[in-house]
Amino acid sequence: MQRISFRLFIFFFMVAAAVIGAGVALYWQQVSDILERDVKSHVAAASEEAASDFNRLIQNDQQVLESIAITVEDTYPWTDSAKLTEFLQRQTRHNYFKLLGVITEGGNVFLSSERSFNPVFLTDVLARTIEEGHYLSVRQADPADGKDVLVQSVVLTQQGKPVGALFALQEPQRYRPLLALSAMGNRGYSLVIERSGAPVLGYRSPGFENAFEELAALEFDGEMSADSLRTAVQQGKHFMVGVRGKNGHRFLHFIPLQINDWYMVSALPTTYVEHQAQHLTWLSFILFLSVFVIFCALIFYILHMRAYSNRQLFTTAFVDQLTGADNFNRMCEQFADKLAGLHGEAALVIFDINKFKVINDLHGYERGNQVLQRVARVLRENVAPEECFCRSTADTFILLLKYTDRKTFRSRINALTTQLRRDCTVADSCLMIDVAFGVYEVKENIPFYIMLDRAHLALENAKKMSFDKCQFYDEADRKRIVAEKQIENTMEAALDHGDFTVYLQPKCDFANGQMRGAEALVRWNRLEQGLVKPDDFIPVFEKNGFILRLDMFILEEVVRLLAAWKVKGFVPVPVAVNFSRLHLNDTRYIPQMLRVVDKYDVPHNMIEVELTESVIFNNLERAQNVINRLHRMGFSVAMDDFGSGYSSLNVLKSLQFDSIKLDKEFLSGFDQNPHAHKVIEGAVSMIKSLGIKIVAEGVETQEQADFLRATGCDLAQGYFFSRPLPAAQFETLLRKVGCDR
Ligand code: C2E
Ligand code: CA
Ligand code: CA
Repeated sequence: MQRISFRLFIFFFMVAAAVIGAGVALYWQQVSDILERDVKSHVAAASEEAASDFNRLIQNDQQVLESIAITVEDTYPWTDSAKLTEFLQRQTRHNYFKLLGVITEGGNVFLSSERSFNPVFLTDVLARTIEEGHYLSVRQADPADGKDVLVQSVVLTQQGKPVGALFALQEPQRYRPLLALSAMGNRGYSLVIERSGAPVLGYRSPGFENAFEELAALEFDGEMSADSLRTAVQQGKHFMVGVRGKNGHRFLHFIPLQINDWYMVSALPTTYVEHQAQHLTWLSFILFLSVFVIFCALIFYILHMRAYSNRQLFTTAFVDQLTGADNFNRMCEQFADKLAGLHGEAALVIFDINKFKVINDLHGYERGNQVLQRVARVLRENVAPEECFCRSTADTFILLLKYTDRKTFRSRINALTTQLRRDCTVADSCLMIDVAFGVYEVKENIPFYIMLDRAHLALENAKKMSFDKCQFYDEADRKRIVAEKQIENTMEAALDHGDFTVYLQPKCDFANGQMRGAEALVRWNRLEQGLVKPDDFIPVFEKNGFILRLDMFILEEVVRLLAAWKVKGFVPVPVAVNFSRLHLNDTRYIPQMLRVVDKYDVPHNMIEVELTESVIFNNLERAQNVINRLHRMGFSVAMDDFGSGYSSLNVLKSLQFDSIKLDKEFLSGFDQNPHAHKVIEGAVSMIKSLGIKIVAEGVETQEQADFLRATGCDLAQGYFFSRPLPAAQFETLLRKVGCDR
């Protein structure tokens, strides 16, 4: 998905770059066209101006000559040659002519300065001037210095008849400023030619004889050729053409002048256009570059943001904020790869800090956090690159480590424990951490979460240990857990379906063998396993609290039996019911009991409550309270399993038991161990001295019975007298009223 979107992104980038490129090319084309048009119109305007200036200048000179001519005519017939010459000299100076002269019809010549002219030239000027009224020549060589000059003349008349000509020699430099095309940055120039192509005036001396011959060597833009150009000139057309020669490309503007069929040709090299365009080019280039740079920056920014947000996402999704270690999600994600990298030689380890909550409570969260950060640091130092670890919850860390054999692994864990204990203590607080490890040796290809469950199971065991806080997962543990789970899954239904039944085991009088009472013992009739003994399920019920309901159920069964026996006319015996230690903490215990017993109207003295010794010992005060209340209600109370745990004689002194049941453990090894006799004798005599009735449990043999009878025990309960019996069988015993032995 990500890859596709990245490709799309690249595609978009290419398209955008192409569009920008095409845009710039189009823009460039447009700019060039506009520029060319602009330059052409500039060339046209400048050359047009030069042409009209040139025309004006010539006409101006003409007028000047004409006004001088009026004065000259006034001095006709020019007898005072000195005066005329002096006048001509003055006018020459005033009007910047090179020379002024008068040619008379009579062939006399008056000049502003001494010079000898070819008579043919003079005759020719006179004749043309008289013929046309005025005359403007092409270039002539000044006889005085050989330099090019322009000859301009007007006719001199007397009473309407021509009497001579006034002529002036003009230096070509006079026209130069007009031909320089200064508006074009001195890059262009103009020429004045005749229609034949012969040069009249040139800004720079072009050194050619005929303009068309020069032009024939050039390459023309468009459809124009040297021939069509010559024709156009001959027709007096006004036009512009582009030509390319060895000096590059230039524009030529042909403008017909009002004088002598002359043409002004203005030329401007295209380099001027290019020069003009250069700053526009730069501008465009900078514009393009800016757009491109912005575009690239945008792309870079987008990519950068993408990478950044990916990183952020990764951090949020896969990094534990407190320690900077991987989090559980990351572990899940990389587990398979890491496991494959270790070639299956791996162990999944869970460890947590014992009583971490206490660290938080005692030293504050800040310290707690510091400890966790240090733990993560120690793990980072100890976990190889091919291994991995994560912090899964508050103080729980999961590690996937290389595993070869138990011994090596255990020593690695021991070293790690030592380092953790050393490095994770916080300097200014006397805080020593204690860790427990649960290890699952990866042996089969099972899902990660199952491995995790197994390591957890091992951790539970490790936490229970006092010394060896590193426990390996054991299949038997799992089976036990599974069995427990099955028990939990079926217990509710079993209670509803009446799968729990009561067995009764008689308590018989040692003195005469008569049955004095019975103990109710629960049995679970499970479909696949048959009758199940309480040791297999009572511990589970004690853990999950279900025992509270089961005990009440058994009590009700017992009470119902007692009520039924009464109806059947049997002489009932008191029945002892076992109550779990959990009842002691339950305020509803006694009220519930009363409700059940009173429902069947059974006398309270027919019920005996059996409480195990350890329960009482754990909370003496509460036990005392409950026992006192039971007594007040008329129930008798027995201490069960006396001698199995940490019995304290103090307990016997403080609590008012009606009877004490010697644990069957007292009798184990009875035959081989002479000390057992002494211990029993001592215990019995001590209890008897307190005036409490003694019941011996687990009596299996004649010897045991004889011995116990001899020591002074009151009642016996055991296989020797009777096994626990179903209610129906027990009733047959009741009928006989007494035990068989
Ligand atoms: P307990 O209260 O000490 O019960 C006596 C246990 O000893 C019974 O085992 C009984 O079958 C067994 N027993 C009796 N005579 C002999 C003998 O001569 N030799 C040997 N080896 N054993 C003998 P059971 O029925 O398996 O009960 C085990 C324990 O389960 C009981 O020990 C009691 O603590 C608990 N329990 C049984 N029923 C209930 C109940 O309804 N509620 C509660 N809370 N606990 C119960
Ligand atoms: Ca018992
Ligand atoms: Ca017992």
